[in-house]
Amino acid sequence: MPYDEALERFEPVLGLETHVELGTASKMFCGCPTAFGAPPNTQVCPVCLALPGSLPTANEQAIESTIRIGLALNCTIATWCRFARKNYFYPDMPKNYQISQYDEPLCVDGYLDVEVDGRTVRVEIERVHLEEDTGKSTHVGGATGRIHGADYSIVDYNRAGIPLVEIVTKPIAGTDRLAPEVARAYVTELRELMRSLGVSDVRMEQGSLRCDVNVSLMPRGASEWGTRTETKNVNSLRSVERAVRGEIERQAGVLAAGGRIVQETRHFHEDTGQTTSGRSKEEAQDYRYFPEPDLLPMAPDPAWVESLKAALPELPSARRRRLQDEWGVSDLDMAAMHNADAIDLVEATVAAGAPAADARKWWMGELARRANESATTLADLPITPAQVARVTELVASGALNDKLARQVLEGVLAGEGGPDEVVDKRGLQVVSDEGELMSIIDQVLADNADAAEKVRGGKIAAVGALVGGVMKASRGKADAGRARELILERLGVQG
Ligand SMILES: [Zn+2]
Repeated sequence: MPYDEALERFEPVLGLETHVELGTASKMFCGCPTAFGAPPNTQVCPVCLALPGSLPTANEQAIESTIRIGLALNCTIATWCRFARKNYFYPDMPKNYQISQYDEPLCVDGYLDVEVDGRTVRVEIERVHLEEDTGKSTHVGGATGRIHGADYSIVDYNRAGIPLVEIVTKPIAGTDRLAPEVARAYVTELRELMRSLGVSDVRMEQGSLRCDVNVSLMPRGASEWGTRTETKNVNSLRSVERAVRGEIERQAGVLAAGGRIVQETRHFHEDTGQTTSGRSKEEAQDYRYFPEPDLLPMAPDPAWVESLKAALPELPSARRRRLQDEWGVSDLDMAAMHNADAIDLVEATVAAGAPAADARKWWMGELARRANESATTLADLPITPAQVARVTELVASGALNDKLARQVLEGVLAGEGGPDEVVDKRGLQVVSDEGELMSIIDQVLADNADAAEKVRGGKIAAVGALVGGVMKASRGKADAGRARELILERLGVQG
């Protein structure tokens, strides 16, 4: 069913479960390294391979990072809690249970405010808990990369035991047609929060931040929530938004046709923006949770938690408010920079010496256009904030005008070197030699005698055509303001 119609008839309720791999040097319960991309099964030991007799030891850094995440999300930190065993069988989990947390999570009852469409939406957090990641299975031979239809599977245990934080929201209702954007804004804000805390590299494309998206619909006016589906491991911000939208449209179609929504996990397909059915959850799986007997309970000292809270860095929303003040930009401009992921770049450009207005102008104008054209992000453009700052400096000094500056940026992006090199190689300096400029002007006046005569006769407006002629003859390298002055002087007219 088309989105607009779906929203007229139904109200969406969201729930988001986000897994964040912590960037600790070693794994959660052993000393193995956690670096991404090592050859398969080279970062393993008896503990993370679950060999008989091996025992886990909790990683203190991971516990500290989880508490800091909880504090940044305005959660209450447990004074006493335990790890639990979650029992299930899967080849990428060698113990046949995962050490996780169950009814005693480390952090509970927080919130994260997100800005969508000029409106602040408070997303309530139910819990933040600590667990270990599984290994990674690769199913070979099938068309879909899933186990069905595969010839065989291989498994890499390098990821098994990497500390994983799970952040679960309470149901998010009342967002209506903004539901897809709210989901995206929440994951974006969460990612920035993790980055500012320095607890994870939050690379969605490498799986260090993964999101499960729960969606249910209820008919307008109903008071009971519908059955939800859970779309697993959505791995980009754009996909989070599309998965919510796709599920709303699909569920509305099923419900409107008199069908019912089945509680199940679903897979998101990047190519179509649709989800397909995965595993049914109609019969809730019994994980036979019980407290992990090989690990001591966690009892964070309240004084330690207080000191962690006091040492939290400036959080992203506070930083945006501060920068907005410093830069003197409107809410709308700030939101646009945030959406374009330009804030860090503008800040770095300002730090490299550019005025904020100029830094914003180039990143959000010419460079945003170029990023868009080449289907990349601003951060991935092959130009540094220091180079952009240098371009603004050259413009401010009069060595370049805006038109030439755009050509310099083009040259830098094309790999021709830094701004000064491009200026030299392409010969892009503004014509600052007055003698050279005068000879161009004299030629233009001779070629445009009619216009020159009009100006002499007092029709000052006609000077525009002459300045245009000078700019054309100099291939954009003349200073238009100075050319105007010199033309008027030459024609003996007061500007
Ligand atoms: Zn290990």
